[in-house]
Amino acid sequence: MDNNINDFSGDFPVLDQQVNDERLVYLDNAATAQRPRQVIKALTDFYEQDNANVHRGVHTLAERATKDYEDARQKVQAFINAPAAHDVIFTKGCTDSLNLIAATYGEQNIKPGDEIVISIMEHHSNLIPWQQLAKKKQAVLKYIELTADGELDLADAKHKITDKTKIVAVTHASNVMGTVTPLKELAAIAHQHGAVIVGDGAQAVPHMPVNVQDLDVDFYAFSGHKMMSPMGIGVLYGKADLLRAMPPYQYGGEMINDVHRDQSTWADIPFKFEAGTQNIAGAVGLGAAVDYLSHVGMKNIQRKEQSLVNYVLPRLIAIPDVQVYGPQLPQKHTGVISFNIKGLHPHDVATALDMDGVAVRAGHHCAQPLMEELGVTATARASFYFYNTKEDADQLIKAINETKEFFNIGTI
Ligand code: PMP
Repeated sequence: MDNNINDFSGDFPVLDQQVNDERLVYLDNAATAQRPRQVIKALTDFYEQDNANVHRGVHTLAERATKDYEDARQKVQAFINAPAAHDVIFTKGCTDSLNLIAATYGEQNIKPGDEIVISIMEHHSNLIPWQQLAKKKQAVLKYIELTADGELDLADAKHKITDKTKIVAVTHASNVMGTVTPLKELAAIAHQHGAVIVGDGAQAVPHMPVNVQDLDVDFYAFSGHKMMSPMGIGVLYGKADLLRAMPPYQYGGEMINDVHRDQSTWADIPFKFEAGTQNIAGAVGLGAAVDYLSHVGMKNIQRKEQSLVNYVLPRLIAIPDVQVYGPQLPQKHTGVISFNIKGLHPHDVATALDMDGVAVRAGHHCAQPLMEELGVTATARASFYFYNTKEDADQLIKAINETKEFFNIGTI
């Protein structure tokens, strides 16, 4: 496998530790990634040198903090190739971004009998806002189903998206099965029917080059913490004309133009959607994470993760009594791999792997309708990032074999 961009160990202090007397192998990156020193330093520098509230001060620190914050917006704009910086709205995270769209665009545009189309592999964050909106507006929520090998069924999408569809909201990459969806094709289909398309990029932006103009998505949401920035910062990209036509999400300071006793007017985008004091340090940290990822190169990151998947997936599938969910071909997979060991609850698997220093997640991964579809209540999930290594993959495989032995799986 390609180990060219392998040695990031010095950059991630948290990875340099033992857990249960074993080398820590962190394979829970789909839940949250680790932070490199460069991001931690950007946060410390901000708090030690520039900390102030943004936009409303004329003193030097306020001007520096404002510049840091707006620089971070420009870095994100370039990173996802948004047409302008004002198309990038800082939010608390992907969940917040998706709720914002449902509460503003959705509230304004969905009428009884309209259709909202999502997929069955959605994270609850890209499911419940639409489910609740549909209920409130007496609209119809439709699900795009999976193909037999766990991919989004494009033929079904063409069937489900109709002239009644007003919103299509689909993940760009599954947080359970590691499937990448044909978001660009879905955008074209949605637009043919006059609908807008929302992309959930939580599991895509950290792992592959994303170009929102090329995808032609109307909205695109993601979280900073899955791409190595602080918790509590995220992004909503939106096409400017749509954002301008939408009502505000929250009311208060920063988002206004004029306020009078009986009426108020709103600031232009992006500030209209950034009410109150924002997570300025978080945005600065996100900017530093974008710098780091751009320096490594998103194509290199994608290539490295692909080579890890090429290495580990066939070895995982080859273990008797291990079932991998979703596509079985490595080239159809991101670094997110869900599996179960026959006869064992995934929580027991995750606990046993932790004894060998391997951190994986177990549960429904906030995707219960998908779990129902897969016929399970939970899975174990190993999720790789570019700083993981072939040795990490070997330790996972070894720990799974040891877990099987410990529980006598396959021997009785
Ligand atoms: N969508 C997907 C596909 C995710 O994986 C996640 C996080 N697990 C989210 C949305 C929600 O992200 P957050 O919790 O950071 O808001």
